[in-house]
Amino acid sequence: MAFAKGYAATDASKPLEPFTFERRAPNEDDIVIDIKYSGICHSDIHQVRNEWGNAKYPMVPGHEIVGIVSAVGSGVTKFKVGDKAGVGCFVNSCTTCATRDLDLEHYMPGLVQTYNDFEADGTTPTYGGYSDSIVVKEGYALSIPDNLDFAATAPLLCAGITLYSPLMHWKAGPGKKVAVVGLGGLGHMGVKLGAALGAEITVLSQSLSKKEDGLKLGATHYYATSDAETFKTLAGTFDLILCTVSAEIDWNAYLGLLKVDGAFVLLGIPENAVPVHAFSLVPARRSVAGSMIGSIKETQEMLDFCGKHNIVSEIELIRMDQVNEAYERVLKSDVRYRFVIDAATI
Ligand code: NAP
Ligand code: ZN
Repeated sequence: MAFAKGYAATDASKPLEPFTFERRAPNEDDIVIDIKYSGICHSDIHQVRNEWGNAKYPMVPGHEIVGIVSAVGSGVTKFKVGDKAGVGCFVNSCTTCATRDLDLEHYMPGLVQTYNDFEADGTTPTYGGYSDSIVVKEGYALSIPDNLDFAATAPLLCAGITLYSPLMHWKAGPGKKVAVVGLGGLGHMGVKLGAALGAEITVLSQSLSKKEDGLKLGATHYYATSDAETFKTLAGTFDLILCTVSAEIDWNAYLGLLKVDGAFVLLGIPENAVPVHAFSLVPARRSVAGSMIGSIKETQEMLDFCGKHNIVSEIELIRMDQVNEAYERVLKSDVRYRFVIDAATI
């Protein structure tokens, strides 16, 4: 057992505060990571504030983690001390059913989230990346390409894979028109990755205030959803709409932007239900789907793709004690485009 320092939420309504806790002793298949950087995902805020109704306190958030391996168990083969390593949204999963072979382990019961969960023993709490170290099974750690800016790779572990997976599943590529709704942490990764895959990307943002950025990131078109004309101009345009919005929007208006057979994919997870009219779907064989992160195999594939195409997140590096202020800025969409905590400041 070793002690770790970090920041935790102790209640839905209180700011995060310094917290010292025990990390479990490493087993033979574990690695210990000296955390260097940890991204702030909007899911951290939803969970800290118990907006999904499943909060366990004290909660050390953070599932966009990169660091340096500081120890390895005797059975570890993939990592050695000194390697760069990353941890995303989960640290264990069902290993007995066939799904692991299908690379769908993240959709199966038995998934252990990196924080706000319990280890497979059902009693040891998991604590996330807003801390200085983590112990994880090597099979749930990712290799980080050496050529990428280290701090800016952290958000790839959640925001990156969350966009890469549906882009691949719905076959975004040359000839495909893809809209990304919301230019935040997830959305800006969708623009970069979708453009690198060769799709024609349109950003649908609340205003045009980030238009210049959106076009620089790789979008071909940029529209404001506050302008009713946008929904007339773009009616029936997209093969795929990736919605990263964390709040309620006029779902039916967005469905009208899909082509025949188009898919609207929910990535953002608002608190309330999503009401959809049959007429928004039926006359054009449209579908509404959801997608959550990606498997370990696909996450590694995404990281290697980013290494090859030199893709990282656009980040604002902050000190640990700025985390509460950063949360308020995320809620105001005042982040370009991901806050990353410098763990050296813990
Ligand atoms: P974020 O950085 O806050 O980005 C969300 C973006 O949505 C904002 O930048 C804003 O873009 C837009 N937006 C916010 N409020 C809006 C409103 N009221 N109406 C219309 N647009 C609004 O958050 P994030 O970290 O990217 O996460 C986004 C959502 O995805 C969260 O709900 C998070 O929990 C969820 N998430 C899901 C997965 C998954 O696996 N499915 C993984 C990670 C996160 P504009 O300023 O451009 O309008
Ligand atoms: Zn996340």
